[in-house]
Amino acid sequence: MKSQTSLYEISSLTSVMRIRDSKTSAVLKIQSRVLKTMTDILLAKGFQWVLPVILAKSTDPLWPDPGYSIEDRIEVEIYGTRVKTMQSMIVHKRILVSLGPEKIFILSPNIRIESRKRMTTGKHLYEFTQLDLEVAYAKMKDMFTLFEELVKESIEDVRREMHPELELLSRDLRIPTVPFKVYKRAELEKEYGEDWEEEISNISKDPVWVTDIPRQFYDFQDFETGEWRNYDLILPEGYGEVLSGAEREYEYEKILKKLERDGLRRDDYKLLLDLAEKKLLKPSAGAGIGVERFIRYICGLKHIGEVQPFPRIPGLVPEL
Ligand code: AMP
Ligand code: MG
Repeated sequence: MKSQTSLYEISSLTSVMRIRDSKTSAVLKIQSRVLKTMTDILLAKGFQWVLPVILAKSTDPLWPDPGYSIEDRIEVEIYGTRVKTMQSMIVHKRILVSLGPEKIFILSPNIRIESRKRMTTGKHLYEFTQLDLEVAYAKMKDMFTLFEELVKESIEDVRREMHPELELLSRDLRIPTVPFKVYKRAELEKEYGEDWEEEISNISKDPVWVTDIPRQFYDFQDFETGEWRNYDLILPEGYGEVLSGAEREYEYEKILKKLERDGLRRDDYKLLLDLAEKKLLKPSAGAGIGVERFIRYICGLKHIGEVQPFPRIPGLVPEL
């Protein structure tokens, strides 16, 4: 199990002098390589690289998600209109693949004011980046294959090309075997209780998929069986969740029902609902992989803040 980072270790992360360390520069080199590997693969597969949106009327409610722990939501007024800072581009991704290119990805900065209790988990930041993608008409299985390739190729490339950096970080990085194992959330919960994510992460050698997790309205749920066609990718060695994704809801009535069930305001998802009502919202599947969490794992770092030159650790606002 990964131990929590001490307050002393965390305060040293926020010093800008850390940028001079050879360790920080090795992490940044590895991150550059991994971003190149992943974006090259996606571009070769015909994905369009879209630039991010930061301020919008509509963003991910993040609610209800088992991992929800938001302390504050940022809303500002611009041009007389209230907008929110981006928590995830899920709504934008759905609309884009419905009306425009059918395969897209974004390196999307997300602002989530996580509870300050998460300062020492080693996994949480209040600003982070997702490699967020969506594909029209894709299914869960397509996403498994795609992300298995992205993860495996990235690791293979780092092992091949970044030997001195891995050595400097004392990281013995294992090349995972694909396909990854798939578990259902309920079976893990039965076996390990509510800490199933941590347990399965601690005992696995390779990343594993977990499916059927009750959460936000936009993930597809079969109303007859109750099953959610969504998934998380859990990293081994105690590093935990690195990706969440799903096949998506596209039917107007179902979306309406779920918004009501979750106590969300229709008005916040007006465009999505309008498109669904006109049957213009395409079925799709997608996922977002947390870049800093993935790099933390590849580099074998204790705290995710070590990935960032300017750490965004919950509860700690640095000078820069
Ligand atoms: P979500 O859809 O909310 O699960 O977010 C997608 C991915 O972004 C997660 O699987 C994580 O890898 C990453 N992520 C989510 N929240 C945070 C956070 N507070 N700090 C760092 N990475 C995060
Ligand atoms: Mg998640």
